[in-house]
Amino acid sequence: MAKEKKFVEAITSMEEDFAQWYTDVVKKAELIEYSTVRGCMILRPNGYAIWENIQKQLDERFKETGVENVYMPMFIPESLLQKEKDHVEGFAPEVAWVTYGGGEELPERLCVRPTSETLFCDFYSRIIQSYRDLPKVYNQWCSVVRWEKTTRPFLRTMEFLWQEGHTAHATAEEAEERTIQMLNLYADFCEQVLAIPMIKGKKTDKEKFAGAESTYTIEALMHDGKALQSGTSHNFGDGFARAFGIQYSDKDNQLKYVHQTSWGMTTRMIGAIIMVHGDNSGLVLPPRIAPTQVMIIPIAQHKEGVLEKAEELRAMLKNDYRVKVDATDKSPGWKFSEQEMRGIPLRIEVGPKDIEAGQAVIVRRDTREKTVVPFEELQGKVGEILETMQKEMLERARNHRDAHTTEAVTYEEFKDAVANKPGFIKAMWCGDEACENKIKEETTATSRCMPFEQEHISDTCVCCGRPAKAMVYWGKAY
Ligand code: AMP
Repeated sequence: MAKEKKFVEAITSMEEDFAQWYTDVVKKAELIEYSTVRGCMILRPNGYAIWENIQKQLDERFKETGVENVYMPMFIPESLLQKEKDHVEGFAPEVAWVTYGGGEELPERLCVRPTSETLFCDFYSRIIQSYRDLPKVYNQWCSVVRWEKTTRPFLRTMEFLWQEGHTAHATAEEAEERTIQMLNLYADFCEQVLAIPMIKGKKTDKEKFAGAESTYTIEALMHDGKALQSGTSHNFGDGFARAFGIQYSDKDNQLKYVHQTSWGMTTRMIGAIIMVHGDNSGLVLPPRIAPTQVMIIPIAQHKEGVLEKAEELRAMLKNDYRVKVDATDKSPGWKFSEQEMRGIPLRIEVGPKDIEAGQAVIVRRDTREKTVVPFEELQGKVGEILETMQKEMLERARNHRDAHTTEAVTYEEFKDAVANKPGFIKAMWCGDEACENKIKEETTATSRCMPFEQEHISDTCVCCGRPAKAMVYWGKAY
């Protein structure tokens, strides 16, 4: 028993130190191991399996909208990176360069892709000639490298896994439509699969992507009241097309520039799952994303028939659910702690007394609610409980976010909210970058987005008092 307690006690409570709690969960749930390279992580099977599920489910959704996957090289010649002025300025400080190859200095430096707009543009300039070649709706799954100053597992790493979609369209309207379509797809995926509610909106000019005409974002609130940018979708207009000469001849025989978009989501989302749903016993995975949804734990497994029954239940459930039996020689209490730490949504306990009574006990990871279920009803009941859990996790996250969202009319209220009420702050803004900078400098809160669902909080900017142009979500962010 002492040993079992130790396993659980080894994680810091989130109320005591949220950052340490996060690190403890990441390590104890065996999601990652630190690597010898600063800011990079080794994804262990428990962590990588979550990414595989994210990948699979996002990819299916992408393909339903006509996306095709490709793979581009990981190196970008310096001359290509420099073609679009704003883009290179934005990314230059974060880029890693390869200067030697095979022991010889390269005639031209190659950067390790921090994102692949320039590669896709170069590619598109070669394969797009006519209106018949459009649209191009390509995506790639890969890793990128950004030389981040401070890093944290999943949330901000130097190398991260992601997908990057890059599209080219005949018209500005079509590009804008695709930009919004992908943002909606991300938000829907996060809510329906990850059980994380999102605020959808537009970034201010200060926060938009280097080279973009407009950047749209989905923003989530973590358990500690900090915001997390969870996915972005950019509309480039024809800026990149002009820099790279991507033209097509239209039906009227006129040469025209294409309009482009890009959109990305990363391994950061695993960090979001941890920080939205986790508790002091560890990770809590929403059923739809959990690599293992049900862990069957035999009680007194040395007794005759117990392991066989556990295996029989697994066989019964395996076609409908991702299910495993923990038949290791650890004690049941230890197995419970492990299953909880790893965030497996349900456990089924089955021992000699249960077998005699023809039933098993289902325990929910999030609420720890127990349900005694006759064997013959197990199949349906597991599905029912998983679905309820999925739904309630989203509701809980939404309630938490709403309870941690405040409004500020005056700058005094704003400063008080940043200092004393962790969460989102809704406040009006005049549209001037000077106010955004002042707020960031004086309070450390940044503008998260101008939400699509605008509200009227007051007539004037929370910072300068001039007439307001938009309502903005503000907050401290990861
Ligand atoms: P961007 O290409 O800059 O628009 O980034 C796309 C998405 O990647 C952002 O919305 C973030 O959620 C995520 N992201 C950015 N930097 C990192 C990083 N260093 N590690 C993990 N995820 C990141």
